[in-house]
Amino acid sequence: MTYHPADTRYDSMIYNRLGASGLKLPAISLGLWHNFGEDTPHQTKRAIVQTAFDAGITHFDIANNYGPPPGSAEVAFGEIMRTDFRDFRDELIISSKAGYNMWNGPYGEWGSRKYMVASCDQSLKRTGLDYFDIFYSHRFDPDTPLEETMGALDYIVRSGRALYAGVTTYNSEQTRRAAAILRDLGTPMVIHQPSYNILERWVERDGLKDTLRDLGIGSIAFLPLAQGVLTNKYLKGIPAGSRASQGKSLNPDAISDARIAMVRSLNDMAAGRGQTLAQMALAWVLRDGGITSALIGASRPEQVADCVGAIRNLSFTPDELALIDQISL
Ligand code: NDP
Repeated sequence: MTYHPADTRYDSMIYNRLGASGLKLPAISLGLWHNFGEDTPHQTKRAIVQTAFDAGITHFDIANNYGPPPGSAEVAFGEIMRTDFRDFRDELIISSKAGYNMWNGPYGEWGSRKYMVASCDQSLKRTGLDYFDIFYSHRFDPDTPLEETMGALDYIVRSGRALYAGVTTYNSEQTRRAAAILRDLGTPMVIHQPSYNILERWVERDGLKDTLRDLGIGSIAFLPLAQGVLTNKYLKGIPAGSRASQGKSLNPDAISDARIAMVRSLNDMAAGRGQTLAQMALAWVLRDGGITSALIGASRPEQVADCVGAIRNLSFTPDELALIDQISL
């Protein structure tokens, strides 16, 4: 079936400026870490991406290793680009990353220039894209000079393989050093991708949120729903097909009785605000403007539609924020 994007796609989404850059990102973006490998029907992947774009989600986040097997999420997204989005490349912000293990031998992971550039080329080939909008160093490499990893990002941008450079999971101190190197090279760091949600607040403890604000670097928070824990999905146990049932990244031990009691309190609070828990969790991530975009995952198109509804109410009273802290900390 030929896909025609909704004419209304730009009517309600909020687009936030990415730090001090000229780029804007949607308040909700979609990541392809799970549900875009060979174990998911292609039609489901297509439906998720189409639903997202119809709702104004213009940013899709991938990495070299997303699958399974590694690389297959890029292949699937490339196929969707060819069948459905060929005419809409200029309406999309597509990112990929290099850092984790992709091929045998000493050049298949971490942060050397050799690996970063080769991996970017492989990712472009798998997706069939001419360039990525954003390319990331996926993890800090303690054994490679940071100048080399940032030099590779600078080269990737200068050679036209990507338009913007970013890092993910770097702590505040690593981010300051990386940003200074990139600034000297003339390719600014425009984005940082940290994990952040009501249950995981390391970016506040580490000072990263303040660092990014100081440096004018934008941010996109991954795991905003704690892999689905911050939704109504686990309130009655672990449903078949859910991420916690799959033996992948979400350990069922994380769904303890105590955790579910906490989630139930948050769920009641969200209902009082006229939101689903997923919507309240996303609104919380975006609440103070310190995070540019919340980067969700989804196994079904209906989840994307639910999450996008978060933008209808992003504000909290001080009492509501205090109650969330009281429940969750
Ligand atoms: P989330 O915290 O958004 O979890 C997504 C999961 O939550 C879905 O797969 C689904 O679970 C469930 N869910 C989503 N919406 C709803 C809803 N409305 N109602 C009920 N359940 C819902 O994030 P992810 O863990 O998927 O990560 C998001 C993205 O972040 C990744 O795709 C990737 O792009 C990026 N990422 C980056 C990392 C990095 O190192 N930089 C590391 C990890 C992720 P179910 O599948 O059970 O239905």
